[in-house]
Amino acid sequence: MRHLLDVLSDGLPEWLEERGQPKYRAAQIRRWLFARRAASFDAMSDLPSGLRGDLERDFRILEGNIATLRQSADGTEKLVVEWSDGRRIECVLLRDGPRRSICVSSQVGCAMGCVFCASGLDGVERNLTRGEILEQMLHLQRRMPEGERLSHVVVMGMGEPLANLDRLLPALREASSKDALGISPRRITISTVGLPDAMERLAREDARFHLAVSLHAPNDALRNQLVPVNRKIGLDAVLAAADSYFERSGRRLTFEYVLLGGINDDVSHARELTHRLRGRTAMLNVIPCNPVAGLPYVAPTAARQRAFRETLERAGINVQFRERKGDAIDAACGQLRRSSSTESRVAR
Ligand code: SAH
Repeated sequence: MRHLLDVLSDGLPEWLEERGQPKYRAAQIRRWLFARRAASFDAMSDLPSGLRGDLERDFRILEGNIATLRQSADGTEKLVVEWSDGRRIECVLLRDGPRRSICVSSQVGCAMGCVFCASGLDGVERNLTRGEILEQMLHLQRRMPEGERLSHVVVMGMGEPLANLDRLLPALREASSKDALGISPRRITISTVGLPDAMERLAREDARFHLAVSLHAPNDALRNQLVPVNRKIGLDAVLAAADSYFERSGRRLTFEYVLLGGINDDVSHARELTHRLRGRTAMLNVIPCNPVAGLPYVAPTAARQRAFRETLERAGINVQFRERKGDAIDAACGQLRRSSSTESRVAR
């Protein structure tokens, strides 16, 4: 049994050809999956019944079970998906006006070790397959009424997406493909801790997507403490790779900065940051820390947040403070998986 979403563009067409099926069958199956949200081959009523039986025998459409589903009053829905090996990841649907944004994971756990993040507390367990990355999008799409479409994707869930580029890229190509989810690449964001080699590779191979780089500190001394992988990399190399991605893509970069009370939230940090970012076509996304059980980090007071923001704005930096949507349902990456590891399974 193969995961259909793993072999949609390479594997399935060959499988169909071996059975003497016309080429348009692959397109029919895609339509059933992405536009009509079929959950079984049996539902694909314009396929010959013999073919449906063969598909049923050789492929599974959805590999994962929804182990936990949380909904909050603002329309945010968060899923914990459990794969066939028992490993769990999280993904989220956010409703904001007409936007239907989803946040997906790229790995089970994370190896980067950012000190304030729940996803990396136990290290990385494995990469997700391209099918598992794509399947999260289907589970979330199926949370919406028919007729509603996903508009934005951010790869900002568990894991470091650029450490799993070989599987991420094919999944995002499906997400953006017109005969799959058809989400414009401009509305697909890859968030990275800042791995220069992989950023350069992405710039060379496929610079259509929006890139967000998680900075969290304006200098190496502080960044080495908060983002341990920085010790081998350094801010200069991260920013240089971000610049070359921008040159290739022409898309405004986003930098992310989790604001940790008393740690990286001083006006002096904001000033240093403006020097680092000046001259770049970029947006700075500031995210007040979402506290993680067992970790000592908290969001700064409102007054400190305001001072931080005003320092940046006065220096002409485009800054945006991210709303804290989904707090009530542990929507900060990696938190729900931990709190749900003892909860029971609810439904497929
Ligand atoms: N590894 C990638 C993507 C996953 S993290 C990256 O580092 O960008 C996605 C975003 O969530 C990052 O900007 C990260 O810093 C942020 N994040 C992680 N833990 C958080 C917390 N406790 N509170 C607020 N934001 C958090």
